Amino acid sequence: LTPVPSDIEISRAQTPKPVDQLAEEIGLLPEELEAYGRSKAKVRLSLLDRLHAQPDGKYVLVAGITPTPLGEGKSTVTIGLVQALSAHLKLNSFACLRQPSQGPTFGVKGGAAGGGYAQVIPMEEFNLHLTGDIHAITAANNLVAAAIDARMLHEATQSDKALFSRLVPSVNGVRRFSPIQISRLNRLGINKTDPASLTPEEISTFVRLDLDPSKITWQRVLDTNDRFLRKITVGQASTEKGQIREVWFDIAVASEIMAILALADSLEDMKNRLARMVVGTSRSGEPVTAEDLGVSGALAVLMKDAIKPTLMQTLEGTPVFVHAGPFANIAHGNSSVLADKLALKLVGRDGFVVTEAGFGADIGMEKFFNIKCRASGLRPNVVVLVATVRALKMHGGGPNVSAGAPLPREYIDENLSLVAGGCHSNLRKQIQIAHLFGVPVVVALNVFRTDTQAEIDLVCQLAKECGASDAVPCHHWAQGGRGSLELAQAVNEAASRPSNFQFLYNKEMPIVEKIRTIAKKVYGADDIKLSPEAEAKIDYYSQQGYGSLPICMAKTHLSLSHMPDKKGAPTGFVLPIRDVRASIGAGFVYPLVGTMSTMPGLPTRPCFYDIDLDPVTEEITGLF
Ligand code: ADP
Repeated sequence: LTPVPSDIEISRAQTPKPVDQLAEEIGLLPEELEAYGRSKAKVRLSLLDRLHAQPDGKYVLVAGITPTPLGEGKSTVTIGLVQALSAHLKLNSFACLRQPSQGPTFGVKGGAAGGGYAQVIPMEEFNLHLTGDIHAITAANNLVAAAIDARMLHEATQSDKALFSRLVPSVNGVRRFSPIQISRLNRLGINKTDPASLTPEEISTFVRLDLDPSKITWQRVLDTNDRFLRKITVGQASTEKGQIREVWFDIAVASEIMAILALADSLEDMKNRLARMVVGTSRSGEPVTAEDLGVSGALAVLMKDAIKPTLMQTLEGTPVFVHAGPFANIAHGNSSVLADKLALKLVGRDGFVVTEAGFGADIGMEKFFNIKCRASGLRPNVVVLVATVRALKMHGGGPNVSAGAPLPREYIDENLSLVAGGCHSNLRKQIQIAHLFGVPVVVALNVFRTDTQAEIDLVCQLAKECGASDAVPCHHWAQGGRGSLELAQAVNEAASRPSNFQFLYNKEMPIVEKIRTIAKKVYGADDIKLSPEAEAKIDYYSQQGYGSLPICMAKTHLSLSHMPDKKGAPTGFVLPIRDVRASIGAGFVYPLVGTMSTMPGLPTRPCFYDIDLDPVTEEITGLF
């Protein structure tokens, strides 16, 4: 329709086919499906065993140039592309998307189900609770936080003997260690299984984690942009006996448990990673894990359904997996390894799996290659780099764009010199970044109503001059799959060429060198500058044996540099590393570049002002 109706109107106008019908069409057996309502279902991981001999399909990553705060349409391109591949080129295809956080949905950016005629439906289910995975992560994360504070209180107020008799209770006159306790004893070098045989020293070592309150790295999480939780004090009730400390909340999608969900490749792998999560350090400097707290089995129980990807569909009835949703700026920004693996088997050798990495290629794509592909062993065939005329104009020197404010004139009228400026700076750099990994790049220009033909032609011409294998305009937002046919053909063609994939760095390089490599080669920095705190942490992590983990930079997505207002392809800057943290269960070291907040705030007029419910029809309005 012209004009294109609102996202939610389009979504509601299409009745999704029943999920069991979709499942049958893509070759799932009824017993491999766990339906949640009529239009979404979890898919059991046993599918991987059944299809293990099936060759994988082609693997396509959708990344983007540095975006405006409005988003440049990576999700819509992903969906438009699979709609074009499946419904129009008759090639099996699957989209793998992240589950959106409720922070942006109610905050600034809105939902993430795509838009226009390239959406996942029902979009309100996709954008809200879905199948509860983020709630499960929140519950698991906060169980760890509760376990930490309770344990410190109990250790502070009880003798070794009292702690021991409570941690290893006598049942019918017999004390027995639980399997999780035996595992802790083994790690402590106490190879005894009979609780009665422990010496008083061994009892003391066993019962006291002796967490240093100033070295606790585990934080509470909530999936709401609640800025007042950025720093709080806990333990103020008299029942907590003065165990007061300052803590903070992160947004739930920044939880290490989210990263684990995204990177695990089986239930067992997830369980082991949950057990390995380091929550802080003891007073003697030893790492304390979730397993030491005795909570790792319970975490696996809380997460056992979340590990199964959720099957949904596009507006044109093609399959989509929605699974995991770490932010790309403060976490690793990619959907799950398991969803990609299942989808690659389901589409078969000639099919396509299109997966999306968050924000610009410098962020989501770099982490896709160096973290996700390292964990999964999968190798992509093609990168689709999404660009828009509006973002290119911003990089070419146009005024700042902000959510909620009208677009300045430059973005509505034709302006070829701003477009060319953006192509020669940001687009060129982002193409070069993809080439560092040896993968061919197709530029997808997501066309907006205000783009002129001359602007569209210029972007496609310059993108090819900058090294893209191909560059095509995409009209999926206004036309659905048929608007992305040219992109589908270009991707099909690029996927038939060899991809010489390589990692950017060898993981055995020292942590500092890995950070420096990303800063210089990907961001264009002259060098890095470590704060004394960052330096001390790197030394500590290296001593603890975490030096060979890959790096997950926490950096603004609004610039290639650490300065959000520096657009284009900034040069001549030194990247400041304020602090370094480690997510041992997820398996990465996590440097904080400048002042990145891990809990977003709400603007004066958040998206929730427009969201409403009709109590008679139960129709939702205002989601986009
Ligand atoms: P990203 O995944 O890059 O963050 P999205 O695909 O979520 O971006 O798109 C961001 C917003 O822009 C969505 O609300 C979407 O409906 C809208 N949008 C995307 N492409 C177009 C287009 N070509 N014309 C108009 N609006 C668009």
